[in-house]
Amino acid sequence: MSTTPVIEVERLNLTYGDFHAVKDLSFEVRPGELYALLGTNGAGKTTTLEVVEGHRRPTSGTVRVFGHSPAERRAVRPRMGVMLQESGFSPDLTVRESVGLVGRLTRRTDNVDRVLDLVDLTGRAGRKVSQLSGGEKRRLDFATAVYGTPELIFLDEPTTGLDIQSRDAVWTTVDRLRENGATIVLTTHYLEEAQQRADRIGLMHEGAFHREGTVSELTRTLPAVIRFSVPVPAPMLPVRADVAADGTVMVETFELQKDLHLLLGWAQDHAVELRDLAAGPTRLDDVFRAINS
Ligand code: ATP
Repeated sequence: MSTTPVIEVERLNLTYGDFHAVKDLSFEVRPGELYALLGTNGAGKTTTLEVVEGHRRPTSGTVRVFGHSPAERRAVRPRMGVMLQESGFSPDLTVRESVGLVGRLTRRTDNVDRVLDLVDLTGRAGRKVSQLSGGEKRRLDFATAVYGTPELIFLDEPTTGLDIQSRDAVWTTVDRLRENGATIVLTTHYLEEAQQRADRIGLMHEGAFHREGTVSELTRTLPAVIRFSVPVPAPMLPVRADVAADGTVMVETFELQKDLHLLLGWAQDHAVELRDLAAGPTRLDDVFRAINS
């Protein structure tokens, strides 16, 4: 597989009037990767994606998609599928007509029935878009991204508003596309989805990267947490901990396994029950919460 990046963004800036929405942003997405662009509200994710997708021109900086400027639509557009937050299908068209229209607009070829089946809308094919439920509309949006099995797929909050079965179905389809070599760019506010699936994450805040890397690179910067409570007064703990007056204990650690082992041994030796014991590795949520602290 080629290692030339599918997307190269170099010192991208975008201003809306005098508001600087994206500031000197650089990143690349490699072939076959699932790259998640995450961030706080208003961080500039959608703006960045709009530039990469060719919907918006940068104020400065360079963007290359398959080695081309996104403005070269004929070279780039047929190779990428885009699921926007709202696709804006005409409410009067049927689902089948809408999916057919995707093929004409993207110049990709596919079988409409295959795509309807893939996004589980076969039973709604004759229905008008205006009559679809929120989740069904979202699945129709998903069809725009997967029609013609493009090499590069943008998914902007793909599972928002979907029930758990539909979410799983979306991810199963994405997994299958990835097995066939597709590159995926994802934005989502469901951090667990990113934590489970992203090869790398760009975490944006106020127009720039707060952090970029794999999930473990991002979470490694923060401690894991162990919580429990003990009857007070308790014997001296074997690790550094915050002990509240009511006996609630919190241990922050970069060595979760070792400290947990010490604590369990200590509890055994002193016949102390660790009530409500919970130990968790650092999660992306914690990295997010730390942005503003
Ligand atoms: P969210 O997670 O809330 O969807 P986002 O990271 O996708 O946010 P953007 O939609 O890219 O953020 O917006 C970045 C900033 O630019 C925000 O402060 C937003 O208010 C501003 N902005 C976006 N579009 C415009 C516009 N057309 N004109 C002026 N400001 C805009």
